[in-house]
Amino acid sequence: MSSAHAQYKGPLFDAHLHYNDEACVHDAQASPGCPYPLADVLDRMQRNGVRAIVANSRPNEGTRALAQAREQTRAAGVTVVPFVRLYRNRADYNNWFRDPSIVAMVNTELARGTPAGPYRGLGEFHLYDSANADGPVAQQLMALADEKGLAILAHVDDVAVEKLMGHTPSKGRNTRLIWAHTGIGGSSVARVDALMAKFPQLRGELSYRPGLTCGDGALCPEWRALLLKYPDRFLIGSDTWVNQRWAQYDDLMKGYRAWLGTLPADVAKKIAWDNGATLFGVPDPAPR
Ligand SMILES: [Zn+2]
Repeated sequence: MSSAHAQYKGPLFDAHLHYNDEACVHDAQASPGCPYPLADVLDRMQRNGVRAIVANSRPNEGTRALAQAREQTRAAGVTVVPFVRLYRNRADYNNWFRDPSIVAMVNTELARGTPAGPYRGLGEFHLYDSANADGPVAQQLMALADEKGLAILAHVDDVAVEKLMGHTPSKGRNTRLIWAHTGIGGSSVARVDALMAKFPQLRGELSYRPGLTCGDGALCPEWRALLLKYPDRFLIGSDTWVNQRWAQYDDLMKGYRAWLGTLPADVAKKIAWDNGATLFGVPDPAPR
């Protein structure tokens, strides 16, 4: 990273955060199963200037724990945007798209809401085979999201993005799909560009995106060009899917701040904060 660029110093919106039961088992009476207690994860967000999060957790109790801790999240300056996770356990990863009990669980959670307000989206969900985007439950949930104005956080390939969009009443025109990792398998920049052009509400979340940064953590030229072409469409995220990611949380956010600092200030602020804040109506945070 060139030292000619200062780090981006403004607020961050972590649009891909899990507080899974490996990090903390929330229904445990004591805390033997809680290597990353609430106070600790909130401290990690606070010290990194993360001022809002898309919280989605396996099981949903992790998200509820964050949503319930109104005083602590307020003190840490973090707004919680809750999503319904589709998974109760690891087995659900490979079967949710055809398991009707997932729809029932999602509807129960949506009706229940959270202490931080209603759920704002569904996901993260995974499709390791894009053909499963045509599964009955995948189709039902995409239609539900469109009807209820819920966002979607989907870890899928480019083929599945098009299939999922096709299952909504608006055929993807109004569907606020956040593409987790923007193609973790390395969909080409040209393909990402084409999908962004085709679906005006598609967003790309950038954790784990292959080819995003080159060597020293700087943006690769073709990605820099894509971010500048669609400054309103990209988001950053931690993806704390395993505890190692919590351990790396400071470094992940520093990495984002480094390349954000090489972009024009208005573009950096959009990707870092505004795009998530606008999507979910989160007010600008007070400076701390
Ligand atoms: Zn994830």
